[in-house]
Amino acid sequence: AKKKGKANHEVFEPRMDAPALGRLRMGTDLRRAVERGEFRVHYQPEVSLETGEVVGFEALVRWEHPEHGLVAPARFIPVAEETGLIVPMGRWVLEEACRQARAWQDLRPDGPPRVMSVNLSARQFEHPDLARDVARALRESGLEPGRLVLEITESVVMNDARSTVGTLGELKALGVRLAIDDFGTGYSSLSYLRRFPVDYLKVDRSFVDGIGEDPGDAVLVSGIVDLAHALGLNVVAEGVETQEQLALLRGMGCDLAQGYHFARPLPSEEASTLLARARPL
Ligand code: C2E
Ligand code: CA
Ligand code: CA
Ligand code: CA
Repeated sequence: AKKKGKANHEVFEPRMDAPALGRLRMGTDLRRAVERGEFRVHYQPEVSLETGEVVGFEALVRWEHPEHGLVAPARFIPVAEETGLIVPMGRWVLEEACRQARAWQDLRPDGPPRVMSVNLSARQFEHPDLARDVARALRESGLEPGRLVLEITESVVMNDARSTVGTLGELKALGVRLAIDDFGTGYSSLSYLRRFPVDYLKVDRSFVDGIGEDPGDAVLVSGIVDLAHALGLNVVAEGVETQEQLALLRGMGCDLAQGYHFARPLPSEEASTLLARARPL
């Protein structure tokens, strides 16, 4: 075990409270998990609201903990982010997702083109090796750059607008597509959307949730769709759970949707089965 690093240092802090101790243990476990390859990627379909076809997948990481079983990202991503382990973990997710996308493409080379979306955390986005890592994942998997979508949250994009423009430009130069994730939850000045070379807006689930009941949410989502289209962006609705939400989103002209109504995030074998079934969702 390493002797350096913030987490290991904190272990000797005498007045540490219990939650911090839990985080520490998790930090140690996480480091081991990276080394032992305990992470898995699940894939959630993204569906075209026009055709009902699966037009892409979002890669979502899970941790197969030897004692606790499958752990959700909300429980370990914050610790991974704090300790910096998110960088090697995220690099692995990126590589794995690109390999999987390429494998699905090879299964049906004449099938409809599908994209693979991968989440980038703040730490990854700010890391100087990001573009190099993305380029390598594309090269080693043989995935066409245009089939990879990198998702960055609104808050990360807005954090330092000047350096963001530079990093987004570097990524775009590789030929990948970019999505703003959790759109609507941050404080972006909408004018920035014009300056960032993004391709997709993903409307946060909290807004999609309410569109059936809250007229305010419906107006908001409808406005986001119109704005995005005016700027030439595609809109993905996250967290679609009901037929009613689906119908409303379709009426608004939303392009893509993702949510339990269609499918949960699936292990790769189950996602493959779903793809083989060809029938629109
Ligand atoms: P996200 O990027 O906003 O991902 C969507 C989350 O919503 C996923 O949770 C997904 O399972 C969930 N979801 C999808 N449809 C529905 C629905 O209809 N209803 C409900 N209630 N939930 C739905 P998950 O997989 O637990 O991931 C949570 C977050 O963890 C992600 O939010 C993302 O911020 C982060 N994350 C996941 N995988 C990665 C990764 O590989 N790298 C990074 N940096 N972050 C990741
Ligand atoms: Ca996402
Ligand atoms: Ca999201
Ligand atoms: Ca979210």
